[in-house]
Amino acid sequence: MDFKLSTDEEVFRQEFREWLKAALPHDWDPYNQPTFNEPLKTRDAYRAFQKKLFEAGYAGMHYDEAYGGQGRSLMESVIVSQELGRACISLVIPGVITHGMALPLIYFCGTNAQKKYFIPKILDGSHLWCQGFSEPDAGSDVANVSTMAIRDGDNYIVNGQKVWTSMAHFADYCLLVVRTDPESRKHKGLSYLLVDMSLAGINPRPMTQITGEAEFNEVFFDDVCVPVDSLIGEEGQGWQMAITTLMFERAMGDVVISAAYETNVAKLIQMAGQTKNAGHPIIEDPLVRQQIAQSYIEIMALKYHGLRNFSSHIKTGIPGPEGSIGKLLWSEPNQRLTEAAIDMQGPAGQVAGGPWSIQNGSWQYAFLRSKGNTIEAGTSEIQRNIIGERVLGLPKDASRV
Ligand SMILES: Cc1cc2nc3c(=O)[nH]c(=O)nc-3n(C[C@H](O)[C@H](O)[C@H](O)COP(=O)(O)OP(=O)(O)OC[C@H]3O[C@@H](n4cnc5c(N)ncnc54)[C@H](O)[C@@H]3O)c2cc1C
Repeated sequence: MDFKLSTDEEVFRQEFREWLKAALPHDWDPYNQPTFNEPLKTRDAYRAFQKKLFEAGYAGMHYDEAYGGQGRSLMESVIVSQELGRACISLVIPGVITHGMALPLIYFCGTNAQKKYFIPKILDGSHLWCQGFSEPDAGSDVANVSTMAIRDGDNYIVNGQKVWTSMAHFADYCLLVVRTDPESRKHKGLSYLLVDMSLAGINPRPMTQITGEAEFNEVFFDDVCVPVDSLIGEEGQGWQMAITTLMFERAMGDVVISAAYETNVAKLIQMAGQTKNAGHPIIEDPLVRQQIAQSYIEIMALKYHGLRNFSSHIKTGIPGPEGSIGKLLWSEPNQRLTEAAIDMQGPAGQVAGGPWSIQNGSWQYAFLRSKGNTIEAGTSEIQRNIIGERVLGLPKDASRV
């Protein structure tokens, strides 16, 4: 087993690193970026940067040239994502659903017309997507969706409510799970629509999180007229589409997130070296050293699990349920790492700094935001259920049978 990249891949990484350094605006400051409370600024910054990536040939490198990709290897795409995670994660975060879910789903499951229309607009940054799965009575139990889409000629008329929909207040399109058969229950009778967020009758209402930012929304659909060609997959196949989307969400994140977290451990070490307690740098404190080493171990576990999972993804083309292991390996350790960073600051840890940054006193933002990590993209309990059933073959979760 050899996790080393080939010489060509290392050369490519170096080339991209240099391009990235030159491509970021000269006054770009990773610790002073727009927040989700400035949605249009956040969207514009994402769009401008994604356009640059696209024009330089670094967007969606492994997708077909026919759809605006470069027909290059998946490994090169991953190297680009890792470098973005390491250097400027805040510019990439608004596009997480767009590139991690909408893009692969449309590529693997969309019609030719959907691929030709949507993929180039995703790659060049014109379209930003959100994900409308969760509802007040359908979170972990996504199959309980009750938002209705009733066929009326060439349209579906959509009525209902979604909740916790990240970025719906500035997204262009939504991956929307709806019930097209009103008589159906649970997994049956669901369908999946690619919905233009500018349609009349869609009203996102931002909800403020513990960080003070409104990153997600409740979204109301009142008699929204959605063209039938917005359906992805067959009518009634929404459940299979939703599961495929979630597997993509959980698959590719690990290798990118581990790169960003390696930077965070380096910053933690830097902070521990610069912070003093009773005249001594806290990095000399045995407990602090234990915490730092533990964070590093957990990130290495994530990194190598991500590479192993990624290697099976390359072989099969579709990610497997092992993505749930990766989800647990980044979400729970990130909570421990940010909590350790707050503890290390002593009483000063209680004073908030600016958003995004985890340096310059803003570990507080990262600590508060990390609380959502074990809920978003499926809670830790649900990930363990998936691993139990689909990896270990345990009996099915009784509440879902
Ligand atoms: C920051 C953030 C961003 C999000 N963004 C989006 C988004 O963009 N789009 C979207 O659709 N959703 C989004 N969500 C919603 C997220 O997917 C749901 O919150 C999550 O699936 C849990 O659903 P719930 O909140 O309804 O909790 P519930 O499902 O009600 O769960 C409550 C508790 O019960 C536990 N539980 C439930 N069922 C079981 C079971 N069978 N076995 C064991 N324990 C169980 C859960 O683990 C949890 O602890 C986001 C959430 C957060 C925090």
